[in-house]
Amino acid sequence: EVAPLFAFLDEAAERHPKQTAIIFRNYKVSYAKLRLLAERFAANLRAQGVLPGDRVSVMLPNVPQAIIAFWGLLKAGCTVVMTNPLYMEKELVHQIHDSGAEYMIALDLVWPKIEPLRDRLGIRKFFITRISDALGFPLNLLYRFKAKREGTWRDVPFDGETVIPWKTLFKKKEGYSAKVENPREALALLQYTGGTTGISKGVMLTHYNLSVNVQQIKAILGESTRMRHTFLGLMPYFHVYGLTTCLTLPTALGATIIPFPRYVPRDVLVGIDKHKPTIFPGAPSIYISLMQQKDVGEFDLKSIKYCISGSAPMPLEHIRRFHELTGAQVIEGFGLTEASPVTHLNPIHGVQKPGSIGVPFPDTEARVVDMEVGLVPLPPGKIGELIIRGPQVMQGYLNRPDETANTLRNGWLYTGDIATMDEDGYFFIVDRKKDMIIVGGYNVYPREIDEVLHEHPKVKEAVTVGVPHATRGEIIKAYIVPREGVKLTKAEIVAHCREQLANYKVPKQVEFRNELPKTIVGKVLRRILRAEEEERLK
Ligand code: ATP
Repeated sequence: EVAPLFAFLDEAAERHPKQTAIIFRNYKVSYAKLRLLAERFAANLRAQGVLPGDRVSVMLPNVPQAIIAFWGLLKAGCTVVMTNPLYMEKELVHQIHDSGAEYMIALDLVWPKIEPLRDRLGIRKFFITRISDALGFPLNLLYRFKAKREGTWRDVPFDGETVIPWKTLFKKKEGYSAKVENPREALALLQYTGGTTGISKGVMLTHYNLSVNVQQIKAILGESTRMRHTFLGLMPYFHVYGLTTCLTLPTALGATIIPFPRYVPRDVLVGIDKHKPTIFPGAPSIYISLMQQKDVGEFDLKSIKYCISGSAPMPLEHIRRFHELTGAQVIEGFGLTEASPVTHLNPIHGVQKPGSIGVPFPDTEARVVDMEVGLVPLPPGKIGELIIRGPQVMQGYLNRPDETANTLRNGWLYTGDIATMDEDGYFFIVDRKKDMIIVGGYNVYPREIDEVLHEHPKVKEAVTVGVPHATRGEIIKAYIVPREGVKLTKAEIVAHCREQLANYKVPKQVEFRNELPKTIVGKVLRRILRAEEEERLK
């Protein structure tokens, strides 16, 4: 009974045809209509020469078109390559070449970026949707005006042959729905990793990998899935975390999605107040910055029942404060692109252990193993590398046999994360292997120091990295963003850390900044900070 991923859409369209699938400004679409649009889209793609198995890049923010294109491409039997619309030249060229995408669906707003690269990208056809289709009046005018003023606007040279208007894909036509012969092997998605630790890699995920993961999350949500849910669709669809929690999961629940194309804290608060979402998948940096909005108290945020927090550790203090503010249950989970992405969640009704990523899904095995030896599980309480085995684990990295062999070993996925498990089988992430700092022979996990720094009342954000040092190997450097309007000194930071940390863990260097470099899902890019430091030491 393994079904293609789009079976979720078919089921929603059959079971709740009238239920609203998407609300976006003035645009509202039901599940029956969404399926019709997706199937018509698939039929028109075929008429344009797009074949099953072709790889198609979708370079869109979270707008209804991204949802329609995603389902439409799967219905056409294609493999979707979600592409970040903020990508600049180098990243874009890398992803398109590496993925072998031959077609692209994009917003006219990013055309100025695409046009100069047209020859290099080697895309056969572009299907372009307009900002006006995406944002509606008057935001579209505003954008266009701004882009024109900044000189970044370029009219799209529609020629009907290689640059084709989006609406061409909705010509009235009998719909098409591909027969996916083997959902366990057919690639639904080539998903590029977040690029936090290095170059972004293409992860091969099948229909089965992705749909199993949705089922696993659904099972944990349990009884609560009977309720009619509305999802705040803020996490980007071009990252697998957003794709699963804000697109495929809500579809599988027949829930309403409210896509947000950009993260503007105030717009999100207004959106919550207006649309009353019940589930808000997010990341720590998002919850934290929402709480810091000055007038946050003026909005009604009580509709939110569950927050699924993943992608980076959520400092405990913030979980408590977000709960106080909204009444929502913040469920911390864990995942990685290579696992479609979720592997662990805190139980929704059972015991939630603060600071823990929870327990693995029932059909997912997780072990903490010795970092050198590998496979043998360590006893509870010991620290080692987290490895995973389960139906959501990827087929491998595209074009990277060595890295695949390194990551998928003995039938297990080696996550590169350092973790520990307690006596009750709850897992705790200690840090990433690549972020571990070695100070005079001691292993230091920067996350522990970050947590201490976050407890300081004048600290808004903080991160520690190891920087090279002539005699000690590495020393610890803290980068700190103070709260607005406060004065904070290195001496205060050091004194605060001394109270709570062994001396060798206390940062030797402290630098104050206005912001920290981050990935699209808000993970601090330690490698950039480290590289800056290495550059300085040269
Ligand atoms: P790259 O693999 O290209 O360096 P990336 O690690 O950002 O980029 P993702 O697949 O997006 O790629 O992120 C997965 C990683 O996110 C995990 O390996 C883990 O380090 C981190 N992570 C996810 N959830 C949590 C969590 N709840 N707590 C701590 N870390 C988390």
